[in-house]
Amino acid sequence: MTSHKKMPIGGRAIEPGKSEEVETGDWRSFRPVVDQELCIDCMSCWIYCPDSAVIVKDNKMTGFKMTHCKGCGICAKACPKKAITMVEE
Ligand code: SF4
Ligand code: SF4
Repeated sequence: MTSHKKMPIGGRAIEPGKSEEVETGDWRSFRPVVDQELCIDCMSCWIYCPDSAVIVKDNKMTGFKMTHCKGCGICAKACPKKAITMVEE
């Protein structure tokens, strides 16, 4: 039986990770583009975005935080007005 004293020291997570500190937009290959003419500010994209990358100001959807948008396309799927198009980077 191996003594626990002979086991190599493993890695430790000393703090919880937060997407605020990790730029999840680094690996994006598609980006969302919104057509503001079609947008009705329903906030569906804001609710469903897993990275809180939809920018809302004064109850208006104004765009995307590209440092955190990973290009998953969920916002485009969630939009009832088809106002969001995913385009290749
Ligand atoms: S593509 Fe994904 S990560 Fe980017 S804004 Fe839309 S839902 Fe959020
Ligand atoms: S889901 Fe579509 S219509 Fe609703 S706020 Fe987002 S872009 Fe605008």
